[in-house]
Amino acid sequence: MAKEKKLVEAITPMDEDFAKWYTDVVKNAELIEYSGIKGCMILRPNGYAIWENIQKELDRRFKETGVENVYMPMFIPESLLQREKEHVEGFAPEVAWVTHGGNEELTERLCVRPTSETLFCDLYSNIVQSYRDLPKVYNQWCSVVRWEKTTRPFLRTAEFLWQEGHTAHATAEEAEERTIQMLNVYADFCEEVLAIPLLKGRKTDKEKFAGAKATYTIEAMMHDGKALQSGTSHNFGDGFAQAFGIQYTDKDNSLKYVHQTSWGMSTRIIGAIIMVHGDDSGLVLPPRIAPTQAVVIPIAAHKEGVLDEARKLKYVIEAAGIRVKLDDSDKSPGWKFSEQEIVGIPARIEIGPKDIEAGQCVIVRRDNREKTVVAIADAAAELQRVLDEEQKDMFERAKKHLYDNLFEAKDYETFKDTIANKPGFVKAMWCGELECELKIKEDTTATSRCMPFEQEQISDVCVCCGKPAKKMVYWGKAY
Ligand SMILES: [Zn+2]
Repeated sequence: MAKEKKLVEAITPMDEDFAKWYTDVVKNAELIEYSGIKGCMILRPNGYAIWENIQKELDRRFKETGVENVYMPMFIPESLLQREKEHVEGFAPEVAWVTHGGNEELTERLCVRPTSETLFCDLYSNIVQSYRDLPKVYNQWCSVVRWEKTTRPFLRTAEFLWQEGHTAHATAEEAEERTIQMLNVYADFCEEVLAIPLLKGRKTDKEKFAGAKATYTIEAMMHDGKALQSGTSHNFGDGFAQAFGIQYTDKDNSLKYVHQTSWGMSTRIIGAIIMVHGDDSGLVLPPRIAPTQAVVIPIAAHKEGVLDEARKLKYVIEAAGIRVKLDDSDKSPGWKFSEQEIVGIPARIEIGPKDIEAGQCVIVRRDNREKTVVAIADAAAELQRVLDEEQKDMFERAKKHLYDNLFEAKDYETFKDTIANKPGFVKAMWCGELECELKIKEDTTATSRCMPFEQEQISDVCVCCGKPAKKMVYWGKAY
């Protein structure tokens, strides 16, 4: 048993050191391995399989709204990147440059894409001529590179996987509609599949995407009360179209600029899954995203008939459409339980000689360790019911955590005190001035997370300067 104990002790309790807990979980659940390049991580099978499921779910939802996938080059010529001024200023500090091809110095530097707006704009300027060519609703699954100084697995890495959608529309209304539509696709996906409740809203000008007219965001609250921006959707208006000359001839024969959007979700969201649902024993994966939803663990596997029953059980569960594995290795059951808990498999099914004699098996949930004894004949249906309940309970628990830690402040002293002493977000009124946003960040390290769509009038004045308030904002410390 000594070794089994060691397996669990490898994870620092989250109340002791949340940052350490996070890296312990990431490492022990075998999601990633650090690579030889600083800030670049290797996604191991357990980590990549989660991303594959995210891709599958999102891609299906995208396509239901008419999205088509494409693939763009990973290099962007410097001159192209510089076409839109705000955009290049936003990304320049973290761009990686290619200066040589083989031994020859290039006549123009190429940047490794930090994002692909400029390439899509260049493409659209070539292929959009008439109103008949619109809309263009393209997406690509790829990796991007941002030369970050400090990095953390999933949350901030030099290279990460994501999808970036880029669309072009005939009218401003259509572009705005698409921007909100995609934000809702992300929000539904997070809530239904990842069991992560969200706050939806618009970013302030300070926090919006470089070159965008408006950025909308979904913000999730991690277990430690910090925010994680989980997906963004941008309305570019016709700013990029003007910079890149993307024009079309309308029905009335007049030349018009297109209106564009872009939207993205990355492997960062895996960091959110870990920090919303994980516990001191490791990862807890929501059943709908878990690569393996259940593992069958035979007890006293050496005894006659046990392995055969366990195998049969696995096949029956698999046939019912549940992603299940059988752990028939020679490790002890206790060790197998610990492993299942560390990697976050949502349920385990224990079956031993006494169970077989009684015609039953035991289902154990990962999230609350609740045990259910069920007849072997009903195992698949009962397991599905348990998984559905677990998915629902995980969402409800995360939602309670979010709303229990959503505070309100009418004056600056209360605001500062709450940010300093309570984990979570603070709702407060804001005058709309950058100056106050900067002061709040300086004084508290909290940033504006979003101006929620559902506004409340907490008071009439800005929490920081006392001038008339324009918007209610969610403030919080963020990853
Ligand atoms: Zn103010």
